Amino acid sequence: MSDPYAGLYLHVPFCARVCPYCDFAVRTGNAAKRHSYVESLLAEIELHAGESPTFDTIYFGGGTPSRLEPGDLDRIVARIGERLATTDDPWVFLEANPEDVTPEAAAAWKRTGVRTVSLGVQSFDAEELAFLGRTHSADRARDAIGICRETGFHTVSIDLIYGLPGQTTDAWHRRLDAAIETEPDHLACYQLTIHERTRFALLEKRGELTQMPDEGQAAVFRATHEHLNAAGYAGYEVAAFAIDPEHRSSHNMKYWNHTPYLGLGPSAHSFDGEKRWWNHRKMDPWQREIERGVKPIDSEETLSRRELLLEALMIGLRTYRGIDTADIERRFDTDLLAANRELVERLHVNGLILHHGSRLIPTLDGLAVADSLAAMFRI
Ligand code: SF4
Repeated sequence: MSDPYAGLYLHVPFCARVCPYCDFAVRTGNAAKRHSYVESLLAEIELHAGESPTFDTIYFGGGTPSRLEPGDLDRIVARIGERLATTDDPWVFLEANPEDVTPEAAAAWKRTGVRTVSLGVQSFDAEELAFLGRTHSADRARDAIGICRETGFHTVSIDLIYGLPGQTTDAWHRRLDAAIETEPDHLACYQLTIHERTRFALLEKRGELTQMPDEGQAAVFRATHEHLNAAGYAGYEVAAFAIDPEHRSSHNMKYWNHTPYLGLGPSAHSFDGEKRWWNHRKMDPWQREIERGVKPIDSEETLSRRELLLEALMIGLRTYRGIDTADIERRFDTDLLAANRELVERLHVNGLILHHGSRLIPTLDGLAVADSLAAMFRI
């Protein structure tokens, strides 16, 4: 089923401090920098006036969008409504860090139209929070969840990180239970990955940090899905769980369904169904291009039919719905099942995928290795 509307992503590159595992385009920045960024973002919106697809989701990600003044968020959403095409009532998502959540800020976000708040909680354990370089406490996170709940947002989502060095499955179960006690509508659970050019990569190189071995990672991945599914949070993607379907992220589902999206702000990526392009990662070149009246695009690539198909398999096998081979045939004129009969049989026997009608659905073990599964298909 194709989605008639595109998604709009706005990258807010500011954080109170940069976490040691983070490889996003982020920086600290004072109020003057944030103000100058907002003016540039408003100007970037203008550069797309009259030519945008129609958006039904507006996603403020980062970075820490809750670092922006509520009045600035309001101005940005108002400008989007004036200059770009949107549905009457687009769904606004806001990523927020617990320390920025106050009753006043939350009330202002709600007036702006925010319906999903996604809180960067990461852990409910003091030692883990310190290891991850986070500045909030578990109690502050609980307060923030409570404030969001009282403010009446449609969806309160929390992000957690697992697979920390030495973390046992039991310890991770306790973190999940602490999260479940706060009754979020949605959870996003990410495996800790050590990216190049981060503080953790440096520590690893010096032998001061050791990543959890693969078998441990596989065990906590499985524990995450089994524990949350048993608690009523149905998984729908490798990292996403919702208490019911209406709390799923309609914005992220666009990425997983290959629906077009436009990204504004430094480093933001866009996709129109065939072509992908991305903005300058650093603030200065991004701002300079906008000042010249030019879209601040760093580079672009047009995906071949084969690349698009491989991507569709990868993202499909990362979801609980899996791949609809009939849909693949319609889009790519390829009979995936006929070309991969033996492989599908083998993956089925090995407990990695289920085959229901035209659908190939990954099992939990299949989800854990979704990217390598996709690469096995003859396309
Ligand atoms: S708060 Fe999030 S975006 Fe900012 S540095 Fe930490 S992990 Fe990165």
